[in-house]
Amino acid sequence: MNIEEIYKESGALLSGHFILSSGKHSSNYLQSAKVLEDPKRAELLAEALAALIKEAGVAVDTVCAPALGGVIAGYELARALGVRSIFVERKGGEMELRRGFEVSSGEKVLICEDIITTGGSALEAAKIIEELGADVVAFAALANRGFCSRSGSGKGKKPECKLPDEKPLFALADFEFKIYDPDECPLCKEGSTAVKPGSRGN
Ligand code: ZN
Repeated sequence: MNIEEIYKESGALLSGHFILSSGKHSSNYLQSAKVLEDPKRAELLAEALAALIKEAGVAVDTVCAPALGGVIAGYELARALGVRSIFVERKGGEMELRRGFEVSSGEKVLICEDIITTGGSALEAAKIIEELGADVVAFAALANRGFCSRSGSGKGKKPECKLPDEKPLFALADFEFKIYDPDECPLCKEGSTAVKPGSRGN
């Protein structure tokens, strides 16, 4: 399964000149929701991710996703693993488990995102779940932006990664893009104008 091709075909992997949410510029951008637009494709990706988790022998009772970005990926992964799917969401800045979702003491929970950048939201979700008495056994995402270390990739993590070392991160691929400060961006120097992908067409 060529993950990069799948992301390109679905319009989730963009090439051009972009302003990232950090304010930095890049020639690539991941529009992760696009890869899940087709439920069949989402199912195939989740099955591939579930296979990695099963191969590693990690037992999971429940998949928990940070809303909004992780919900579809988490739901499809739960389906592929044959386990329960829940999500945490932000209320007044803090992540909370709401809507009648509960976890029990010792329950094995995997935190799933669509994409892991620094892992900040995934870590927040993990903290809530552990405060409620369940055990976070692993993290998972369809794609990893290369700051955190994907299980089996042999690559180390970068200082930006917020995920704990002792828990594995399962992901289908690393997407590492060159990132530039705006004043040093070679694309700007060539005269092109950076765009914010999220705001195009809105
Ligand atoms: Zn630029």
